[in-house]
Amino acid sequence: MTSLPATTSASRKSRPQTNLTVLRREELSPHMVRIVAGGEGFSGYVNNDYVDRYVKIAFPQPDVEYPLPLDLWAVRESMPREQWPHTRTYTVRWVDEENRELAIDFVIHGDEGLAGPWAAKAQPGDSLVFTGPGGGYNPDPAADWHLFAGDEAALPAIAAAIESLPREARGLAFLEVDSDAEIQPIAAPAGLQIRWLPRNGVPAGSSELLINAVRDAEWPGGRAQVFAHGERGYMKSLREVLFRERGLERGQVSLSGYWAHGRVEDDFQAEKKLPIGQI
Ligand SMILES: Cc1cc2nc3c(=O)[nH]c(=O)nc-3n(C[C@H](O)[C@H](O)[C@H](O)COP(=O)(O)OP(=O)(O)OC[C@H]3O[C@@H](n4cnc5c(N)ncnc54)[C@H](O)[C@@H]3O)c2cc1C
Repeated sequence: MTSLPATTSASRKSRPQTNLTVLRREELSPHMVRIVAGGEGFSGYVNNDYVDRYVKIAFPQPDVEYPLPLDLWAVRESMPREQWPHTRTYTVRWVDEENRELAIDFVIHGDEGLAGPWAAKAQPGDSLVFTGPGGGYNPDPAADWHLFAGDEAALPAIAAAIESLPREARGLAFLEVDSDAEIQPIAAPAGLQIRWLPRNGVPAGSSELLINAVRDAEWPGGRAQVFAHGERGYMKSLREVLFRERGLERGQVSLSGYWAHGRVEDDFQAEKKLPIGQI
């Protein structure tokens, strides 16, 4: 018997593959679609306890033939990298164990790309295959207050995080969106103020609204815990605000790029190893 390389079997175990079926598509706003998926494959979904849990959705390449049923880890072991399905990373907005379904909210950002255009047209019965979930953040009950900052791509994770807060939690959330039409209801504790920042015509990833709002806001006193995610350039600017200007410590902050202006996700992920991609 041939044993698998340790890294591969560990990855298969820690990021199992789930094959779901699209159950319904909900238009949450002009630029946000919710895909609710479930079906028999839901029994293979291994949830985790992070509020920012995310999965890697597989998009098989149309001109490559894959052994069926699609086994992503087997593909990785047996096929050259350039033939692997493309992957796109998405937050699991909620999981309903009782009804055996989960929801993923997709930003509809135009005709470019794989995931956004797929979600815009997805129909019940379509297949949704992913590995994961990963994740790494939960609100710290010891924090005096919480700061959330992000754009539409981080809205699902920030909304899930806010909804998980205890009633007495305090804080500020800055959410940059295309326009007021993107504002969603989020069940927030009374002490958590949500400030929506509509770009009103400025393209996503090109505005300074989010950075200026975080920079200029009057911060509550006490020790903050920060969850800041979104476009890579935004996060680089926020890094300066949070660490240099506000003097936060590394352990107080969860900060990362979720996408990069003008980059498909494959390039964005690859650039994380280069100076341009490092946050
Ligand atoms: C941990 C994590 C969690 C994420 N969670 C979510 C989520 O819940 N919902 C969500 O919508 N996104 C989420 N993202 C971001 C998502 O992975 C990227 O936006 C991804 O690039 C979308 O893939 P695509 O195939 O639609 O576009 P790609 O093929 O990757 O890119 C095509 C073009 O579209 C542009 N583009 C990509 N995303 C956006 C955007 N949001 N707005 C404007 N232009 C864009 C790119 O710059 C590129 O020019 C998350 C990312 C990470 C790392």
